[in-house]
Amino acid sequence: MIKQTTYVLFLLTFIGLNTVNVLGQTSFGPPSLQAKITEHTLSGDCNLSNPGLKGTGRDEFTKVDPPQWFTPGADRAATIVVSYSQGFPLEARPALEYALDIWGQLLNSQITIWVQANWGSLGAGVLAQAGPETVHSNFSGAPLSNRLYAGALANSLSVSDLSPGQPDIAITFGDVINWYYGLDGNTPSSKYDFVTVALHEVGHGLGFIGSASHNGTSGFIGLSGIPLIYDVFVETTDGTSILSYNSGTVSLGDALQSDGLFWNGVEGGAGSTIGRPRLYAPTNWNTGSSFSHLRESSYLSGSENSLMTPFLGTAEAIHDPGPVVKGMFADMGWDTQIVTCGILSAVSGLQLPCNPINSTYTQQVIVTYENNPTTGVIVVNGTSHAIGTSPQTITLVNQPADGLPVDVEVYFTSQPDCISTFPAAYTAIDPCCLDLRLVEVNPITKTISIRNTGNCGAVLDGFSFYSENLSTDLGTLLPIGSVVNSGDTVSLVWPEWTPEFNVVSKGELAIVNPVSQIIDYLQWGSANHSLELSASVDNVWTNNTFILGEPPFTYNGIGGFGLNEWLYTPYECTVVSATSGASSGCTAPLNLYTQDVDLVLLNAPVTGTINLNGQNFNLALLYPLLSFDGIAQVTLTLQNLLSNGLPVNLDVSFSDNATCSASFNTLFTAPITCFCTNDVNGDGVVNVGDLLDVLAEFGCTSNCIADVTGDGFVNVSDLLSILSEFGQVCV
Ligand SMILES: [Zn+2]
Repeated sequence: MIKQTTYVLFLLTFIGLNTVNVLGQTSFGPPSLQAKITEHTLSGDCNLSNPGLKGTGRDEFTKVDPPQWFTPGADRAATIVVSYSQGFPLEARPALEYALDIWGQLLNSQITIWVQANWGSLGAGVLAQAGPETVHSNFSGAPLSNRLYAGALANSLSVSDLSPGQPDIAITFGDVINWYYGLDGNTPSSKYDFVTVALHEVGHGLGFIGSASHNGTSGFIGLSGIPLIYDVFVETTDGTSILSYNSGTVSLGDALQSDGLFWNGVEGGAGSTIGRPRLYAPTNWNTGSSFSHLRESSYLSGSENSLMTPFLGTAEAIHDPGPVVKGMFADMGWDTQIVTCGILSAVSGLQLPCNPINSTYTQQVIVTYENNPTTGVIVVNGTSHAIGTSPQTITLVNQPADGLPVDVEVYFTSQPDCISTFPAAYTAIDPCCLDLRLVEVNPITKTISIRNTGNCGAVLDGFSFYSENLSTDLGTLLPIGSVVNSGDTVSLVWPEWTPEFNVVSKGELAIVNPVSQIIDYLQWGSANHSLELSASVDNVWTNNTFILGEPPFTYNGIGGFGLNEWLYTPYECTVVSATSGASSGCTAPLNLYTQDVDLVLLNAPVTGTINLNGQNFNLALLYPLLSFDGIAQVTLTLQNLLSNGLPVNLDVSFSDNATCSASFNTLFTAPITCFCTNDVNGDGVVNVGDLLDVLAEFGCTSNCIADVTGDGFVNVSDLLSILSEFGQVCV
């Protein structure tokens, strides 16, 4: 059976300064401890429980923020109650309670921790000093036997108050220090941050304290032969436990002054990024500082692990115990309720189309995390980003488009162990090395040939043709899944391409890649088509240039862009068609008529005349119908044609283009004559001779010569017709 042992450490400063001891603290201990204390006092080493924090007086201008998990005033995992000595300044109390709050949220204990806070004079340069008021061994719930635990820790482990009515921790703050009582860590020049000092001293009181001492020759460890739990984890450079040295020997003394003492606890090591946590063990024993602190030069000002180093500068704030100290407390048996940083998920967000220029794409990843650090950056697949608010959308640019699953690794630079990898979080977009050129465009047949000038094959999905406000995805113009290999030329028919004539005479065609860039373009017949400006911006066409010629338009294959790269047949003058229009009919008495002719002309001259059966028309008057693109429908009226009932051919020619002409047989038929139809016998005058011819044939019903009215009969109406024109001379 293990005998429970409780020691009350000596309390020199506490007793000397406290005028009102509200908790009834008493000071006594076993004779062996008292003897040891006396011995150390005589040797000048009496600070076993008073590892005072020393001020350097040097401005550091550094600040370590409170832990990310710390929320002021939130529920505590441990209750810490503080009693103030008389004279403890009111303005200092919020800063102390803020520090206690940080510890109270970090450590879990069902047993209330009692703190006695004192205010008094300390040695030169000492800002404050503190320690556990009681230590206990072999209590119920002790993880190791024959090891002493600070009162607050022992109470927590045993789930009982092993020294009821006594404070667990006593702290004395120096009364002549130039304190900064703010909670924000923005410590001004020449002032010491009270929160930092309180956090440090409470750390000692909670158990960050070893039992080693030195008398100038020999080293000592243990209280009446029983080590503190802190001592258990201390080892030399070569891994020799400090407890393997005999107390009271020179060899232990040398080890304590070796500047080579380390913490070998697993959790403390896990909190360190520089190997084993290194303790302060200067080559000249520094009473009150050696052994029970982290090594100053390993954890410089501004380090997140610098709280428990023995020196503090002015304008230096450390409001986080840091991962090393947290781990050391866990090693010693504290239940550390640290809400640890975690990266919970990384899922695919927006995925933009592949950029064919370099076959890359932009991917958004939505990262969910908790209890993240607020310093440093978040790193996602090797790219750094400012830390935002979870869930945070991270944009990854220039990602290789390889169609493969992508693992996502996320970590925080200021907390490298907060890292997670999510296998196959998303799938990369397919490659888009595909690069397309227009190689032949024929708006008449609605056929467009394209060539893959890229270095790999792919389906055409995502590429589009645009023409004015009409567009189509190229993928829809080929059988589903068709791959166009590097160097291949394919001919596509675009059935919906507006078949109107004006598309043939003037129009545009653009090929647009999946990221909305125009990668090839041409316009013909006229400028200022819908996408001309965009094509110019994308460097594949020049404003106000256009092809003036007949389809098909063929790319010369040299590699450039713009009008000069296209081959085509310049327009030729053509009389496309001629049709007869309205006729006036025969007009008496001159027996003439007029006839409209509708012409369709392609690229006719715009100067000189057009000649129709010898009749000339001024082309300049028809301009601009006959401008460059040449397609025009014009109606010309032939005048003074003879009504003779005969078929008429049409000959078309141009004064300024002798090679451009056309003939059309029997374009129309002249009306029958309307000249002197009552002159039956044709003697040049309408008279009695004509009447006699009618009478001679009177009653005729077929093939009648004297039927002047043309009604098929020779009768009275014919006589009346002749009489109505009687005497007319027909010259
Ligand atoms: Zn200290």
